[in-house]
Amino acid sequence: MNGLKTKVNKLNRIGKTLEKRLSRLGIVTVEDLLFYFPFRYEDYSEILSIAKLQNGQEVTIRGKIELINAKRSSRQRKIVTEALISDGSDQLRLVWFGQPFISKTLHVGEEFYFSGKVKSDMFGLQMVSPSYERVRNGERGMGNEGHNMHTARIVPMYPLTAGITQKQLRFLVSQVISHIDEIVDWVPEDVRDVADVMELKEAIRSIHFPENQQEIDYALKRLKFDELFILQLRAEMLRQSIKVAKAPKIKFSEKAIQDFVANLSFELTKDQKVSSWEIIQDLGKPTPMNRLLEGDVGSGKTVVAAMATLDTVLNNYQVAIMAPTEVLAKQHYESFCNLLKGHEINVCLLTGSEAISQKSIPPKADLSGSEKSIKSKVAQRKNLLDRINSGEMNVVIGTHALLTDKVKFKNLALVIVDEQHRFGVEQRKTIKEKSGNKKTTPHFLSMTATPIPRSFALTIYGDLDLSIIKQMPSNRKIIKTRLVDDHNRQKAYDFIREQIKQGRQVFVICPLIEQKEKDENEIEIINYNFTGSQEKKSVLVEFEKLSKQIFPDLKVDYLHGKMKSAEKDEIMQDFSSGKIDILVSTSVVEVGVNIPNASVMMIEGAENFGLAQLHQFRGRVGRSSHQSYCFLFTTKNSAKSKERLEFFERTHDGFVLAEYDLEVRGPGAVYGVAQSGMMNLKIATMQDKEIIKLSRDVARGMDFNKYPSLKKKVGEWESKVHLE
Ligand code: ADP
Ligand code: MG
Repeated sequence: MNGLKTKVNKLNRIGKTLEKRLSRLGIVTVEDLLFYFPFRYEDYSEILSIAKLQNGQEVTIRGKIELINAKRSSRQRKIVTEALISDGSDQLRLVWFGQPFISKTLHVGEEFYFSGKVKSDMFGLQMVSPSYERVRNGERGMGNEGHNMHTARIVPMYPLTAGITQKQLRFLVSQVISHIDEIVDWVPEDVRDVADVMELKEAIRSIHFPENQQEIDYALKRLKFDELFILQLRAEMLRQSIKVAKAPKIKFSEKAIQDFVANLSFELTKDQKVSSWEIIQDLGKPTPMNRLLEGDVGSGKTVVAAMATLDTVLNNYQVAIMAPTEVLAKQHYESFCNLLKGHEINVCLLTGSEAISQKSIPPKADLSGSEKSIKSKVAQRKNLLDRINSGEMNVVIGTHALLTDKVKFKNLALVIVDEQHRFGVEQRKTIKEKSGNKKTTPHFLSMTATPIPRSFALTIYGDLDLSIIKQMPSNRKIIKTRLVDDHNRQKAYDFIREQIKQGRQVFVICPLIEQKEKDENEIEIINYNFTGSQEKKSVLVEFEKLSKQIFPDLKVDYLHGKMKSAEKDEIMQDFSSGKIDILVSTSVVEVGVNIPNASVMMIEGAENFGLAQLHQFRGRVGRSSHQSYCFLFTTKNSAKSKERLEFFERTHDGFVLAEYDLEVRGPGAVYGVAQSGMMNLKIATMQDKEIIKLSRDVARGMDFNKYPSLKKKVGEWESKVHLE
């Protein structure tokens, strides 16, 4: 049996509770434990003699206990343990607060290592609350039996969750470190040589038990390389597979596109023109387009997509458009019907709850078919599927369920995906199978409102070509953004009331659904200094407060991710039709929803969100000619979060905000785990520019037939991380 796959609960000293806590850190097997990396180190490797200590030093000393006693402090009623130790060169006082067990663990005459900070008081030097470890026989520094783990070495500091200590983690890692010999290096030796990185098992050993800083550096290089290399290999694999694939050539319908543009009620921005041009060029090639269209909320990606759609349909091919939610799919349906009207084009909507079609005329509100019997609904769906299959439907809009449904196309040539960033090999295969043509692969266009700086996009979406709409349509008003002090809260409420009186609507965003709950999947990683969740505002509590105390006369409702999707849709419909004045919500409103009449976005606990995310919230208002406002409230007033939010106050460019947050918080915090799928970066960061370049260079032109282990690794990564 492979020891790496052994469950940690088989190890000594792991009971049910600890097992559960470890699993919150993602540690289930021995392998997980080995791949759970420290995020910093404290260097206690050098043992100093007491006589040489100086105030303020962080050191390790080795000494024998001469005196120890515990007493209760008079003022704070806490146990204080004091000890006097000696190492032959001098004596030193140690003191611990509130740790009653210490005097029972350390006894006079015994010898220990003590690590901690040296401080001076009126009686001279002392060490406060040092960590300690019994001196054992044998070499120091290694984690093996009889060696020191917590002191007298470079001590790794692991990210923790509540109920787990550094000592426990170090102990567990030391128990399993011998299993590194079973680690098979997925990067072949000659590739390692080219990249100049060390062997994986050596890196794992060094990351947990480094002898010196240089070992840490080498280990980090290898481990970061691995994370980035997988991304680049994946991109390279896709690139290679796309290069050999054939796509339907879409002839540019110049006249029709010119007419389309001329008939718009606005002038296209320069970026919209350039992006459309890039896309139309790609469509004309015999290899599949693989492009990401990036543009801030409201930058006008939909028209660009509509032009590509029109061009494709006029070549007698079908187009599929996928959105992440039913609400958004419906919105796209309405937009496309509208934009394509005047052409003989059949547009349909196919989601879990709806199956409707129109000849590019906007649908009426009551077309949802709720009054129809289930039987006729089933028949209607079947009928629509048939018409998609026959090619009668030119544009098929739906959720990602289009991929799993019984949908078959006659001749699909273009797939547009909103807010999913990209497609994996598997999804491409699925699409190809559905496309109705075994010899060609449809063109692929992905759209996102998440601003991803170009350099960063090249790392994580290395397989995609980029079109970026940076410029906003000129008629946009700046959304007035204010960080509001809590003592001005009433003023904000008064303002809101005034806006509603004028007929506007208001969003209130909260970080949580219920009080006391943890964020979904949140691990409170103590050492990472993330905001704890105790004080976050919750939707349900805010809803109570606003509907009962502040605005009892107004229509307040709420929305969150745990509601059924039918319920959510209903609330959004009610908000959209003006039946609700104030909508209290979690971040579920973040993506795409269009309520032109909303003019105030109020965000509670704003420090809990990334700037790019706040920017998305802000983009929910200001979608009409009404001046709009964004108010930020915080529950935690650290200087750092204030600085961030003030930056947000004055910055209205999503790309600039994203870059700022990438620097300050890192990609995981900025783009989120689920959304980006790139969070498997555990230790590599965007600051690792050299390793990014290295991994790109090594991946470029890789011969995957020669190195099947690389191919396999990418497959594993995909199934683990990505595109669930
Ligand atoms: P997003 O990029 O967020 O998907 P949309 O495509 O939904 O943005 O566009 C937002 C709004 O801006 C739509 O109502 C659209 O008609 C309008 N719009 C798009 N391009 C322009 C433009 N160049 N000038 C003025 N309004 C535009
Ligand atoms: Mg959009």
